[in-house]
Amino acid sequence: MPLTELIIDGFKSFADKTTIHFDQGITGIVGPNGSGKSNITEAIRWAMGESRAKSLRGSSMKDVIFAGSELRKPLNRAEVTLVFDNHNHELKFDNEKVAVTRRILHSGDSDYLINNQSVRLKDIRTLFLDSGISQNSLAIISQGRVDQILNSRPEERRIIFEEAAGVLHFKEQKEIAQNE
Ligand code: ATP
Ligand code: MG
Repeated sequence: MPLTELIIDGFKSFADKTTIHFDQGITGIVGPNGSGKSNITEAIRWAMGESRAKSLRGSSMKDVIFAGSELRKPLNRAEVTLVFDNHNHELKFDNEKVAVTRRILHSGDSDYLINNQSVRLKDIRTLFLDSGISQNSLAIISQGRVDQILNSRPEERRIIFEEAAGVLHFKEQKEIAQNE
């Protein structure tokens, strides 16, 4: 289920709408310090439902909105879209392409869309858990994450292994069912 396109608009340093195309194989993103490489992986995790501002290096979720620069006024909204190639129907949608969008307004309200239809965060989580990639999974290893895994408490490390083994998905489903 390849990620083929990432559209970032108003997220962190990306004040202008920017589309990044991922071709087959490995994509390398290079650039000087502070040029926005980590912001790209954060945009992906954010669109996948990341809810901890701290894990996106902010103190509140609104910090992901472009905060202005010497030459540009701050923006009042941020939007990120991930486009997946779904021709193998690995995601439970009939569409050949599945677009997942997250938006946040200055008020702090976030909303999510799948193929331009409004959905709940729960639907986003389910979509990615079913596909085996969630925003915490080892599919994305950020700067410092290796140290964090090595230094984590046994209980925390267990969660990482459960996720990699695909058990976490069933645990979450059980929890959802118990809460309903
Ligand atoms: P390094 O090579 O040091 O890891 P990097 O390419 O990963 O650098 P990032 O950490 O992605 O760089 O980008 C940091 C830049 O993003 C900083 O210049 C910071 O000011 C800018 N930035 C972060 N949040 C915002 C925001 N909300 N609004 C505007 N700019 C932001
Ligand atoms: Mg970085």
